[in-house]
Amino acid sequence: MKSHTHDFVGRLLELHSLEERLARALRNRNERTKVEALLESLRASLPVGVLTVHDQMKTRGKRSVAEVRHGVCSGCHLELAIGNVNEVKAGILRRCGNCGRFSLVVEETVANDSPPGQRPAKPRRKAGEKAAAKGAR
Ligand SMILES: [Zn+2]
Repeated sequence: MKSHTHDFVGRLLELHSLEERLARALRNRNERTKVEALLESLRASLPVGVLTVHDQMKTRGKRSVAEVRHGVCSGCHLELAIGNVNEVKAGILRRCGNCGRFSLVVEETVANDSPPGQRPAKPRRKAGEKAAAKGAR
C-alpha cells in the first residue's frame, strides 16, 4: 500500500477527529475527560510549530490538513507546485502555499488512502445470490 501521510499529518487528522468527539461530548463529563486526556497526549507528541498552525486554522473554523488530489489542494482548490507535491510524496511535511494547510497527497488509485469518515459507500452485491435464484427455477 502506498501512503503519503506524513507522521505529523496523520496525528493532525487524529486531532481533528478527537476535537469533533469532544464537541459532541459536551454534556458527557466522562467522555469529555477521556477525550481531553487523549487530546493532551496527542498534542504533546506534535511540534509547537505544527500545533500553532492547527490552532490558528481551528480558530478560523478550518481544518489544518487538506487532501491534495491530482495536484489540487482540497482546501483552496488551487493547484500546488509539482515540486511541492513530489516533496509531500517523498515524506516531507509541506503546507499549501495558498491556504497554509498541511498537504496530504491522495492518489485516486489507492483506495485505502481515504481518511476515516470520507470513504464512499460502495454497494455490495452478493455474488452467489443471483446464481442461486436462477438455479431454483
Ligand atoms: Zn490550499
